[in-house]
Amino acid sequence: MRKINTCDFRVATRSTSREINSRIALNVIHEHQPISRADLARRMKVTRGVASTLVNELIGQGLIYEGATGDAARGRKPTFLHVRTRDRFVVSIDVRFSRTYIMLSDFAGRQIALEIFDTIFDIGDFIKNLGNRIRRLLKVHNAEARCEGIGLVVPGMVDYRTGHILNAPTLGWREVDVRDKLAASTGMPVHVENAAKACALSQMWLSNNNPTSAQSFAYISVSDGVGVGVVVNGELLRGRDHIAGEFGHMPLNLDGPRCMCGNNGCWEAYISNLAILSRYFGWNLSKRSPKRLKDAERSSFTVLDLVARARSGDSKAMAAVLATGRFLGLGIATIINLVNPDCIYLAGEITTAWDLMEDTVREAIAERALTEAATRTPLRVTSTQEYPRLRGAAALIAAPTFAAPRVA
Ligand SMILES: [Zn+2]
Repeated sequence: MRKINTCDFRVATRSTSREINSRIALNVIHEHQPISRADLARRMKVTRGVASTLVNELIGQGLIYEGATGDAARGRKPTFLHVRTRDRFVVSIDVRFSRTYIMLSDFAGRQIALEIFDTIFDIGDFIKNLGNRIRRLLKVHNAEARCEGIGLVVPGMVDYRTGHILNAPTLGWREVDVRDKLAASTGMPVHVENAAKACALSQMWLSNNNPTSAQSFAYISVSDGVGVGVVVNGELLRGRDHIAGEFGHMPLNLDGPRCMCGNNGCWEAYISNLAILSRYFGWNLSKRSPKRLKDAERSSFTVLDLVARARSGDSKAMAAVLATGRFLGLGIATIINLVNPDCIYLAGEITTAWDLMEDTVREAIAERALTEAATRTPLRVTSTQEYPRLRGAAALIAAPTFAAPRVA
């Protein structure tokens, strides 16, 4: 039950029902492809004629295509329908504290080319450099005409409507415009979003044909910082000021280690990659200046190395992994208590140690979750996926194709 907003609505027109049914058809095809017209009609509970009309319309719009012919016991052989993704391109950009990643991919997030360079912190220089790289990338792959946009994600808060980066503590960017400047430099539509929110969008729209995928979930990305994208009833939670989901900065301990946001004891200060390495090496996180943080980020020893040491019997490394697991679980329990999602997705380097720390994480959740049922919230590790944040950036361009039309 959703209240109609009398200050912001869309009145239904004669074409509204057609528009809705066409999007339903597109989504059913997306989740069940390859699928025949007959099967589509069955799943939509409409007649073959209605399904065929919708299919012809979607083919005409270039959103789906007819593929191979299937087998039929008798009568005409069915042709299978697929969503058109392979010849529709998107440029995705993941700006991180240490490096910036640019990927050219198709609409399903399949990688065509990847470039990595040291992040440039001066916005003017960054846009100029990025614009040059994007133009070159599209030219080399002869993709200018087929590229439908640029998706860019940052570890920080973004006003999705204006494309302004409100605050990205690790990058030192506050109130900066990237969207319009990059659009002017490349001549292409640009969407900017918080990295974890974009990952949540990608989990919703680009994950492999999974019709049973959750409608309400939290996507937790543990990396340089901690980002959380919250989806409730199929819609990304943004909040009035676009800071919804900043669970990385909920306090676990008011006297805890200093966080990049300037406060003490945030969840992020206990589980970020730097916090994990600090735990192992005995660094005092509160006393590390941004420059030294940067050196640590670029040093050759990473969380993946730490996990490898834990596996090879280094007891200090194992202790660091387990302590991190406990703090991870305590934070997840709070998210479960506040959002009560269908499931939680986890991504980031430390999740490669999932088999080592799962029991510790679950014990911490059991300690804090408010009901017995809540302690059993499914946890799904997505670390097997390559470059989830770049897929998230690609989803910014590809996902709107599938979204429900706004009515009322
Ligand atoms: Zn913080």
